[in-house]
Amino acid sequence: MMAKFDRHFVEEVKQKLDVELLGVASVEKSNSAELKKRAAALLPGAKSVVVLGKEVFKELVALLKPGKEVGEAEGGEFFGPHCDYLNGRLTKAVYDLAGILRKEGYRAFPLPAAGAPMDQRYLITLLSYKHAAELAGLGTMGRHSMLITPEYGPRVRLAGLLTDAEIEPSPASKKDFCVNCDACIRACPAGALQTPKEGKAYAMNPFACRTYRATGLTCNICLKACVEVLG
Ligand code: SF4
Ligand code: SF4
Repeated sequence: MMAKFDRHFVEEVKQKLDVELLGVASVEKSNSAELKKRAAALLPGAKSVVVLGKEVFKELVALLKPGKEVGEAEGGEFFGPHCDYLNGRLTKAVYDLAGILRKEGYRAFPLPAAGAPMDQRYLITLLSYKHAAELAGLGTMGRHSMLITPEYGPRVRLAGLLTDAEIEPSPASKKDFCVNCDACIRACPAGALQTPKEGKAYAMNPFACRTYRATGLTCNICLKACVEVLG
């Protein structure tokens, strides 16, 4: 059955769905107990997780600012609508992929780019797209707790899909794309990021980040700092 959903199938659907990134991780063969547990809770018998990504434009990232004056309208506020647009395209893409697989007789569970359930007490999502993306070979985690890809650095939005179809997994990334420069940690206006302990990719206080952003600021200054380093 794997031959049907081989790397050519993956490349074809990537073109068809108009996404810049598409990676696949095998749920069965993954050594992530977390992925197995969370995938099984959503789609019992899931064999593959597919992660789709679209590029966030550099032009929009450049306008982000850590704060603003009273009464100031800032260009960085365009970042939200830009991400909404990308999220909409990604969500359509995962539903289209679900349609392709379901027509072939497989079960598919689309994971939309925005609106995935989250335990607000701990700020833990039901299934972390960025960690699934890392397992699907799309990049590695940076110290800002976001995915860093070789193509676009941290400038990506993600969505995903679980299916019981066995799709050929993408090769894991051999390189760590975070250069451990700590620019994101220094730039965070909320002090939400710390240098991680050895063996950990990041150390973040998600509550500090959320509280800062709840003031209505777009923030993402950690993202901007990383883009300035990685280009
Ligand atoms: S989004 Fe802002 S507050 Fe949150 S970690 Fe990044 S820089 Fe810090
Ligand atoms: S700014 Fe530096 S330390 Fe932070 S994620 Fe990017 S490369 Fe890693």
